Amino acid sequence: MGRLDGKVFVLSAAGQGIGKAVALMAAKEGAKVIATDVNGELLKQLEGVPGIQTQVLDVLNKQEIEKFANSLDSVDVLFNCAGFVHHGTLLDCAEKDWDFSFNLNVKSVYTMCSYFVPKLIAQGRGGSIINMASVVSSIKGAPNRLVYGATKAAVIGLNKSLAVDFVQHKIRFNTICPGTVDTPSLRDRMAAQGDPEQAYKDFIARQKLGRLGTPDEIAYLVVYLASDESNFVTGQDFIIDGGWSI
Ligand code: NAD
Repeated sequence: MGRLDGKVFVLSAAGQGIGKAVALMAAKEGAKVIATDVNGELLKQLEGVPGIQTQVLDVLNKQEIEKFANSLDSVDVLFNCAGFVHHGTLLDCAEKDWDFSFNLNVKSVYTMCSYFVPKLIAQGRGGSIINMASVVSSIKGAPNRLVYGATKAAVIGLNKSLAVDFVQHKIRFNTICPGTVDTPSLRDRMAAQGDPEQAYKDFIARQKLGRLGTPDEIAYLVVYLASDESNFVTGQDFIIDGGWSI
């Protein structure tokens, strides 16, 4: 028996990194997974995996989200994973950078929830929404993460508001707050720095456990929050950061 048997599990940003690991693990645990991403090429790697159905979806596009939500008969779990890491301080963050990060990291959560929460209410059997934050947020500052930290703090606040407003419908909302996780975009960020080897060492040095996290380690937490094992858990922020924030 799988821990997510019988659940319909929708997620964004399933094409690579944490989202991909979550899609694969949720399917293994028995969920019917609808794995979405803006990048159809990346989604091809998930095609044909038992329990996974793929769908191109841009979480910045309200009309696409509405059409997608309306196309689903049923949903139990929504994992809002899409996000972008802008590199820089206030002095590097133009208004367009601010707006892009807030649109992708925060407004997309609002838009997805505005179509999926009414669906969950109408179904009348509760549900679990998991929102991707970061330990770099209201929990911790990090250099060169001005707008990123601001967006992820906003996700934490948004999540708590949603949790308190819909608790009577048994819809649970929790955030996950990872430290540094070894994903393709992290590798790109290292490569973009002058000395990628030094960048790798610097990223590792932040985690007191002395290594990067793996996408699977984050997926285990998401599966727990999606499953009925966490039915008494809502409105919380789950730090999973190799001890960075101790
Ligand atoms: P990633 O950055 O490697 O991949 C992101 C995925 O999002 C890609 O598949 C991309 O196509 C998709 N995407 C981008 N724009 C999109 C859009 N408009 N609509 C739908 N999909 C879109 O993935 P990652 O590093 O695993 O990060 C996933 C999430 O986890 C992000 O929200 C990130 O902020 C958060 N996070 C990551 C880390 C880390 O160290 N990797 C740490 C904390 C939080």
